[in-house]
Amino acid sequence: MSQTPSATPHRAPLRPLDEALRDLLERAQPCLPPERVPTFDADGRVLAQDLHSPLDVPGHDNSSMDGYAVRVADAQAGQNLQVAQRIAAGSSGTELAPGTAARIFTGAPVPPGADAIVMQEDCRALDDGRVQIQAAPAPGQWIRRRGEDVARGAVVLSQGQRLSPASLGLAASIGFAQLPVARRPRVALFSTGDELVMPGEVEPEAMKPGAIYNSNRFFLRALLQRLGCEVSDLGIVPDQREATVRALADAAQGHDLILTSGGVSVGEEDHIKPAVQALGELQLWQIAIKPGKPFAYGRVNHGQGFAHFIGLPGNPVSSFVTFLLLVRPFLLQLQGARTTEPERLSLPAHFAWPKADKRREFLRVRRNAQGGLDLFLNQSSGVLTSAQWADGLVDNPPGQTIAAGDAVAFIPLSSLMD
Ligand code: AMP
Ligand code: MG
Repeated sequence: MSQTPSATPHRAPLRPLDEALRDLLERAQPCLPPERVPTFDADGRVLAQDLHSPLDVPGHDNSSMDGYAVRVADAQAGQNLQVAQRIAAGSSGTELAPGTAARIFTGAPVPPGADAIVMQEDCRALDDGRVQIQAAPAPGQWIRRRGEDVARGAVVLSQGQRLSPASLGLAASIGFAQLPVARRPRVALFSTGDELVMPGEVEPEAMKPGAIYNSNRFFLRALLQRLGCEVSDLGIVPDQREATVRALADAAQGHDLILTSGGVSVGEEDHIKPAVQALGELQLWQIAIKPGKPFAYGRVNHGQGFAHFIGLPGNPVSSFVTFLLLVRPFLLQLQGARTTEPERLSLPAHFAWPKADKRREFLRVRRNAQGGLDLFLNQSSGVLTSAQWADGLVDNPPGQTIAAGDAVAFIPLSSLMD
């Protein structure tokens, strides 16, 4: 009997998504080195160290109103007080003498001795330089306390946090002009498939039979950029073994991750698989999700190091969904981000899904004005319209049918794309 291996493709068992994700995240260690960037440019980046505040914010008790700073004991309704000083934001006053008031403006420090602000609407300025208090203040009224936003020494932003516009403002409020963040992941992006042509290069009416436009390249590049990656878009991999090996070996040099789409289905003849195997290692995973079953993880070695390799399925919706569920957490983890489960809401299905699948499904749905979910009718993994139309995915467990009115787990796409 012949000892040659069977030509029949080996059917790997389907892996649960959570297990594949855990495996993938273990491989995303160690994290990228930190660098300092201007706070202005740090939106979306991952903080590499805790940020301790060197000061109290606000730095002084200050007024939250335009009005008069007073001593509560002096300020009964109907009382006239001498306006002894004027304190605008950016200046500071002196000790408030008993029986006097200080004209004060929003943000200005409360002078020592004052224990309340009377807003100007509750006062009448008299011609003789006094002010009449028309409503007696409560102690502490309209005073913003020193340190009420941030206390000196407090951790204001923590390592592993993804910075948002509000984070940048907060970091600036404690004096940081630059922030320590993880270096951007450098990602080389390739598409595979001889059927692919680029929009702009071939006019729609000149498309040969079987040719399709390369759509994955566009959303993958955009998704990578949203995750803070520096993308080298290396186009369509040439359909020859040697050229593919060379392209991947070159890409491994300057990149943390090589990401490809297409050509990872079981048994398919393509040049990416043997090329990655020749340069490092490759594992083909069959993940028990729909859309998105085939997925490849590997490493392409160079010198002492290596670049991670991830191969996504070619079907556009599979490529899109596996990117969101697997590549996104991988890239966040590379940057040292605390990975969190995607946000999930329990919402009523306003549709029926009578045919259960063996795999866990991610259905493209959209919230409607009644607070329920509508289903995109064609859930085929090739129908990219579904991903564009949807504002979220229903995470439907294996073997589960859905009746109209059932509560289902909704994952907003916005929480997977920022
Ligand atoms: P594959 O995973 O290479 O077998 O591809 C599965 C399906 O996805 C085929 O119909 C391909 O034509 C299609 N496909 C692969 N790559 C792309 C791409 N970059 N853009 C659009 N469709 C693609
Ligand atoms: Mg292909």
